[in-house]
Amino acid sequence: MADQLPEHVRSLVDEIETEIGEDGHEAEGRLRSELIAGRLELGAPEDSGAVEDAVRRILAEIGEDPDRQGLLRTPQRVHRMYTELTAGYHVDPARLINGAIFDVDYSEMVIVKDIPFYSLCEHHLLPFFGQAAVAYIPKGRVIGLSKIPRIVEMYARRLQVQERMTQQIADFLQQHLEPFGVGVVVEATHLCAVMRGVRKPGTVMTTSAVLGIFRSKDRTRAEFFAHLERAAPGA
Ligand SMILES: [Zn+2]
Repeated sequence: MADQLPEHVRSLVDEIETEIGEDGHEAEGRLRSELIAGRLELGAPEDSGAVEDAVRRILAEIGEDPDRQGLLRTPQRVHRMYTELTAGYHVDPARLINGAIFDVDYSEMVIVKDIPFYSLCEHHLLPFFGQAAVAYIPKGRVIGLSKIPRIVEMYARRLQVQERMTQQIADFLQQHLEPFGVGVVVEATHLCAVMRGVRKPGTVMTTSAVLGIFRSKDRTRAEFFAHLERAAPGA
């Protein structure tokens, strides 16, 4: 399956799974976005398949002319874009965590927050995006910090509902680290809520998943949420 991925999707999956450009996550994320934008702009030739036909039908259905100049390559661009935005389905968790779980005698809370993500709501195929915060209390095993944003990315680049994505991130850490507990909080803006219907820009949805000690101990959960309210250093 993975071997049959188009090259542009394969390279995205590789980026999530491996340590390319490990220094400077923000620059890396920007670069990646620019690369994707650049690739879309170039609109490299691709097979005109079922997806392209379907997009042409949508264009015609909404009253557009699929043959006018600006729309000529839109079906290919849309096809390419969706394969990139859903590249997370192809990420191999074993490759992602490869060699980055360490035995460490440390049992204080580890928190990674302000992790940006972009996902697609499965009900409307419109983006929802925001930040994730991930915490766990190790039971002898920790995971390399750089891996946590990649775990978020793996689940964000799929068709999602925010509640499930939040739970999947928590379950993944629980399964692979077997820590004392995991807490995940996701805050996101949903374009399907902002652009249509209620029209309340700024509406942010918050979801959380707490496992183990984060669920059973009020004090642990409170410590986690207190960390989230504190502004990041330098912010
Ligand atoms: Zn939606």
